[in-house]
Amino acid sequence: MPESLKKLITIINFLPWIWEKSATKLAFFLLNSNKNYLENFAQTLTHLQGSISKCWTCGSLIDAGKHICEICRSQERQKDIICVVEEYLDMVTIENSKIFKGRYHILGGAISPINGVFIGDLNFENLFKRISEFDWSLELIMATNPNIEWEATVQYILSELEKRGLKKFVKVTRLSRGLSSGYLEYADNITLINSIKERKEI
Ligand SMILES: [Zn+2]
Repeated sequence: MPESLKKLITIINFLPWIWEKSATKLAFFLLNSNKNYLENFAQTLTHLQGSISKCWTCGSLIDAGKHICEICRSQERQKDIICVVEEYLDMVTIENSKIFKGRYHILGGAISPINGVFIGDLNFENLFKRISEFDWSLELIMATNPNIEWEATVQYILSELEKRGLKKFVKVTRLSRGLSSGYLEYADNITLINSIKERKEI
């Protein structure tokens, strides 16, 4: 097999959820594809990371050159409910369910010293800033994966709210137990909608 084709298979095989057999099939698909498609594909990949930035308020992904995302700018979204998620993909999942009309805050992960993720690596300060600048009480929905890292993250947020004198303005809730068996991205729409509707105060 030509070296360049072998290399392509190795690169594709590096992707998650792609087995070697699928990688080989995809490599041959690309080899036989239209030249314009391939150029477009290569160009999109080359510019992908440089074309994306983060919202200064909530941390969600936006086009480079913009500062604030559409949800943070929208007057139609409720200001007094902030759904706190680990990753942008979690926000996309909740947005797709169309049940939630508030705003988001993307932490960028959960506290996990064992994996090298510390408090300073996550988008906490912006969250506390948002809460402290708010004129009246609000709800924070902790909407993410139930695991040890997330528990540590929720506990940290609760203790900081207390320490900063913000706790009395904030009602903290978590999704109902519907999602406890799996990750947010794998939840079906009905489970997700019920889990948000039946959320419980912490
Ligand atoms: Zn935003």
